[in-house]
Amino acid sequence: MERDELLANFLRDHDAVCPVCRYNVRGLTDPVCPECGVPLSLTVGTSEPRLGLWLTTLVVVASAGGFLMIAGGALVVSAVMYNDWPPFDEAWSLYMGALLSPLVLWGWLRYRPRIRASTAAARRWLSLAAMAFVVLPLLAFFWLIV
Ligand SMILES: [Zn+2]
Repeated sequence: MERDELLANFLRDHDAVCPVCRYNVRGLTDPVCPECGVPLSLTVGTSEPRLGLWLTTLVVVASAGGFLMIAGGALVVSAVMYNDWPPFDEAWSLYMGALLSPLVLWGWLRYRPRIRASTAAARRWLSLAAMAFVVLPLLAFFWLIV
């Protein structure tokens, strides 16, 4: 079966939108969008939702969390070695971030299939929450030491 024939067979009883102009091309018989004139073809795509937001969140959580864990670890090692603990009201955000960020990172990786399967609005809220749990302690740390 020709590719154009496969496309026409698929579009006979399925809704699909033109990737350029979003026009619904259901029932199309020629492999050209009637609205914008772009040539169309039947392709195989991923069934997973787009991973951009998931990956962005992973990068933000891993980098901010990595800084917090290294800085928090260095602070604890230095405090133990010299028996000189910084005032808690200056260091609490570093401790909190260093403890929270591995949990957030683990959850983001562990629950990836459930995050991907949730609605777009839920994914945005989860991403915002995950980044807030790591970025806010980092901002608080810089705000407290400057
Ligand atoms: Zn079009």
